[in-house]
Amino acid sequence: MQDDKEPQANPWMKSVMVWSGILLAMFLVASLFGGNPQSAGTTLAYSEFRAKVEEGSVKEAMLSENRVTGTLSNGDRFTANVVNDPQLLSLLNEHGVKYDGKPEEQPNFWMYLLVQSLPFLLIMAVGFFVFRQVQKNSGGGGAMGFGKSRAKMLTQKEGRITFDDVAGIDEAREELEEIVEFLKDPTKFSRLGGQIPKGALLVGSPGTGKTLLARAIAGEAGVPFFTISGSDFVEMFVGVGASRVRDMFEQAKRNAPCIVFIDEIDAVGRHRGAGLGNGNDEREQTLNQLLVEMDGFEANEGIIIVAATNRPDVLDPALLRPGRFDRQVVVPRPDIEGRLKILEVHTKKKPLAPDVDLRRVARGTPGFSGADLANLANEAALLAARKGKRLIASNEFEEAKDKVMMGAERRSMAMTEDEKKATAYHEAGHALVSIHVEHNDPLHKVTIIPRGRALGVTWNLPERDRYSMSMKQMKARLALCFGGRIAEQLIYGEDELNTGASNDIQQATDMARSMVMEYGMSEKLGWLRYRDNQDEVFLGHSVSRAQNMSEETARLIDDEVRRIVEEGENRARQVLTDHLDQLHLLAGALLEYETLSGEESRRVIAGETIDRDGDGGKPVQPLQGHAGSLPQIKRKPRPFGGTTPQGA
Ligand code: ADP
Ligand code: MG
Ligand code: ZN
Repeated sequence: MQDDKEPQANPWMKSVMVWSGILLAMFLVASLFGGNPQSAGTTLAYSEFRAKVEEGSVKEAMLSENRVTGTLSNGDRFTANVVNDPQLLSLLNEHGVKYDGKPEEQPNFWMYLLVQSLPFLLIMAVGFFVFRQVQKNSGGGGAMGFGKSRAKMLTQKEGRITFDDVAGIDEAREELEEIVEFLKDPTKFSRLGGQIPKGALLVGSPGTGKTLLARAIAGEAGVPFFTISGSDFVEMFVGVGASRVRDMFEQAKRNAPCIVFIDEIDAVGRHRGAGLGNGNDEREQTLNQLLVEMDGFEANEGIIIVAATNRPDVLDPALLRPGRFDRQVVVPRPDIEGRLKILEVHTKKKPLAPDVDLRRVARGTPGFSGADLANLANEAALLAARKGKRLIASNEFEEAKDKVMMGAERRSMAMTEDEKKATAYHEAGHALVSIHVEHNDPLHKVTIIPRGRALGVTWNLPERDRYSMSMKQMKARLALCFGGRIAEQLIYGEDELNTGASNDIQQATDMARSMVMEYGMSEKLGWLRYRDNQDEVFLGHSVSRAQNMSEETARLIDDEVRRIVEEGENRARQVLTDHLDQLHLLAGALLEYETLSGEESRRVIAGETIDRDGDGGKPVQPLQGHAGSLPQIKRKPRPFGGTTPQGA
């Protein structure tokens, strides 16, 4: 692992200790001289004491250097100060008083002292503990630990992360390798007049490996590497963040050449004056300080600032101006080759069964981030371990994929037989439409096993990663959306419709609206954009922009959306009425096997057998519908096509 350097001794801490010590000592002294450690009893003047001895009313006495205590004959206790009186002893003898010598009341005194100082010690201990806590949270640093930067210096030790651990994002990697090159040999670049960037901003969605990449730089660069998270700058107290920034840059300058990594910079770098509610003065000050510092050193001074964010859109534009984060490195979600390489990295130390084809796994996981794939490989290993296997087989990868994609499988959720049948028809409907309607992605898998929040799932996989969708693909997908609902309607009738299709309907509506309002796919409305950028609401500026759209246009949009949706519905209905026999067959197979691959589904509707045990398989029984047999079921939304890129 990479080590964090221990914070240096803290002067403030030391002075706290010294002062506490002094206070304690003063307290002790005060107790020693000022306190009255005497037990109860009347205090007599020495003359009174003598008089009492002479009249015979003193029973016994304890003598110490300057005090005498004792008991009177009536049982009362007394105390008196002793004047230097050489005749005292003979006086006591004369009157038959029992006496004894006694050292100064030492044990009593210490006991007393301890009891008295206990609350003080307690307060000290609590104070010390709280202080330690503050220290720990602020990660060291000087005076009060507040104004100091929390940047941690990573040093390389065994187990460091290298560029080899980062797979599938080669372009981003190369750009950063260049930076590392510079730091290793600055003259190589400056000799040729090359301008070295001051800062690089890693941009990419969560889990794509930005932090990993930065740590790899730390492992490779061979120069000091300071890392800090943007949220470390954001404090309750105004001004603290700014002074931390200042301190961090001072530290960096002392250690140049070096790299400073600010993770999640959006925490500080947000658009100034943005955000709903009042502005955040503290954050603005911090951001201003950051800008000032970045302007304050020369590009060739040997400090490179690397920052990471998954929200570049919310960053203050000033941060992105030349001379600051002048280089943006996009860290994309990996494509199929990238996913393969990432899977290879994360299965390097895992024993794989011969039937595992990582390329197939990669093909089946479009849209997965590096973190998702790492998670997948780990889940597969856990599943194999749970089953007591020594090798991780293809099955485990399939199961792990479903788990990562859809949340944990819920085999325990009991479904009634009627519910299961209805789900079988619903999913079979989706599957059939995807098989028979051209331009849909190939059917990958259909299941009626509940997963996560979904009752059943039908999903399709694009052959390649897809970055856009054509109009015919979108129309095919609309039909696919309605396959489930139409199948249920055909089998059970209009009265038995249930809530299970709400997610399908939402997907279809969203897609149809986008076709009309964003993609210019309606002739009547033309190639115009009718929609505001919805994201901006979250940024705080333009909370509600006036919809400058006539009522007429709005109605036209509604009509067009409805037309497109209904086209999809009709297409699905056509396919399913044409292939009603196949619907019964596929639903029957689903009831029997619960999960079918795309290939198995195609075999079923061709009237072929499914061979699961290697005995040639048995013929599939078609499931015949019974009108009116579908009970009222409250079904949760049921997504399908879980792997198709969202929003396309
Ligand atoms: P980010 O900072 O972009 O949100 P991280 O760097 O924290 O993502 O990635 C989380 C984990 O996912 C990493 O620790 C690593 O295990 C895995 N990972 C992400 N991207 C990659 C990649 N390109 N190659 C290998 N592993 C990756
Ligand atoms: Mg990160
Ligand atoms: Zn559905």
